[in-house]
Amino acid sequence: MNCKGVLNELSEYLDGNLEPALIEELRRHLECCDDCRVVVDTTRKTIEIYCNTEPMPLPQGIRERLERTLAKKLKRPS
Ligand SMILES: [Zn+2]
Repeated sequence: MNCKGVLNELSEYLDGNLEPALIEELRRHLECCDDCRVVVDTTRKTIEIYCNTEPMPLPQGIRERLERTLAKKLKRPS
């Protein structure tokens, strides 16, 4: 799995709806990718805070921000 894959599966992963095989792939990627680890941690914390007030899995503004951040990152040569 690459960074784009992590972003695609992120909401399912954090909702606990992801297949075990994909969870495994995602976690393997997180072990070697600091950027995605930060994104996942931040998103999880944001959702935890957000879910205490409103029942929404992934606020739209957050998703847009994550997509912008990762789009920028993916354009950069590694
Ligand atoms: Zn990554």
